[in-house]
Amino acid sequence: MSRKLCLLLLLSIAVAVAAPVRVLIVTGGHTYDTSFYTLFEDNPNIQGTVDPHPMPYRRGDLRPHYDVLVLYDSMQEIDDQERKNLTAFVEGGKGVVLLHHALVDYSDWQWWYEEVVGARWLKSQSKPLKWKTTWKHDVDIEAYPAKDHPIVEGIGKFTVNDETYKGMWFSPDVTVLLKTDHPTSDGPLVWISPYKKSRVVSIELGHGRAAHLHPSYKRLVQNAILWAGGKK
Ligand SMILES: [Zn+2]
Repeated sequence: MSRKLCLLLLLSIAVAVAAPVRVLIVTGGHTYDTSFYTLFEDNPNIQGTVDPHPMPYRRGDLRPHYDVLVLYDSMQEIDDQERKNLTAFVEGGKGVVLLHHALVDYSDWQWWYEEVVGARWLKSQSKPLKWKTTWKHDVDIEAYPAKDHPIVEGIGKFTVNDETYKGMWFSPDVTVLLKTDHPTSDGPLVWISPYKKSRVVSIELGHGRAAHLHPSYKRLVQNAILWAGGKK
């Protein structure tokens, strides 16, 4: 290999390593405090774009444009074409980070909750739609790491006022990284799914301002994005 070619190759590797993770943040179907946006600030390695559901999945193939999808929507409906684009992104080895109410997404899409997320919000049989999984606001949650992992790097035990979920289904194959012993919670707060084709992280915390502005929460979200994007 010529010296010039070698230098060019090294330069392109350096550019790829230094390039920020391109994140598409999907909102919609649930209100949230604007403090949410601070989670994606102050980190040159993260470059975020917000697009509400279902627009991202109507724009065609997302894979050339983004490395990680951050889901902060709360939706049940997704049509066939939109579903195809989301599936292609996930199967294409890209990263996915689900935050808080995005865990309610697509609770009838078996591949999604069983293989991709490894957890599911459960419905009761009654109509109109009611949930079997319960939630509780304004809880002082003591969270603690359950395992050594890049996603909980720099995170010790912390307390945050946020919302808990209880009565979700969990795959026996999830790897739990952060837990709580609070009685209104199932216990797992952060987990990695058993999905093999891409890196999928779920962070159950994140309802409101207190979580968004908590330094440990911000670090968790940013660590999860970098890990899902293969940068950690
Ligand atoms: Zn909530």
